[in-house]
Amino acid sequence: MPSHGFDTLAHLDDPRLAARLPALLERARAAGITEWLLAGADPERWSEVERAGAATGGHVALGLHPRWAATMDSKTLDEALARLYARAPRVVGEIGLDARYATNAQERRAQRAAFRAQLAWARSQGRPVLVHAVRSTPEVLHLVRREGLPAAGGIWHGWSGDPSQAHEAVQLGFSLSFGPLLLTRSGRKVQASAEVVSPEHILLESSTPHPALPDGPAGLWRLAAVVADARGLTAPEILRLTHRNAMRLLLVGTRSDKMS
Ligand SMILES: [Zn+2]
Repeated sequence: MPSHGFDTLAHLDDPRLAARLPALLERARAAGITEWLLAGADPERWSEVERAGAATGGHVALGLHPRWAATMDSKTLDEALARLYARAPRVVGEIGLDARYATNAQERRAQRAAFRAQLAWARSQGRPVLVHAVRSTPEVLHLVRREGLPAAGGIWHGWSGDPSQAHEAVQLGFSLSFGPLLLTRSGRKVQASAEVVSPEHILLESSTPHPALPDGPAGLWRLAAVVADARGLTAPEILRLTHRNAMRLLLVGTRSDKMS
């Protein structure tokens, strides 16, 4: 068993987990999964994400998720980012596009504006981004191709694209985080992506809480087994590789216990 694995997205702040959290963390650590990234979504819960990050010894990303993009104008968003960054350097996320919450022109505009503004912020701060894309893979690729990722790169969480999209995302500077989609029948193209993407750009996420991985971060082993199978490696090798990849991306001091 490796001494550590890295879960690049676990919503350990989710109130639905509260009662089970100590057991989930214990199980994760016993399974050698010792690092995780928590991410903000709803701005009203950012401080709870920070608290949960500190309480669980996790890394934290904060940003305006596309679902809530319409709740902040650009000035409020800029001020919020400045405030969050004054407290600690972080990953900017989750940011991106989500077609489920872009059902009219106004919502689409708000999502694109929030995504572009936060990409620009991350570039100016030299911070990596954590990108969320649901039914929006071509649109995110297009927007990032035009705007550019920060030099520190980006994590594309919950990768759902095919191998050619994976290739393009990596060329743009993304590392791809593979989650429970790997375990589904409809996840064939995701498995195919995991098979071909260059090894230094693979990450794994439990997407806790997720029904397919009720064990939380410890479920990374199941994902690692699928990727290992596709690539002719072992699950411990995949866990070591993805841990190293995540640490390289986050090296720039995002651990919440470094907050002043
Ligand atoms: Zn997401």
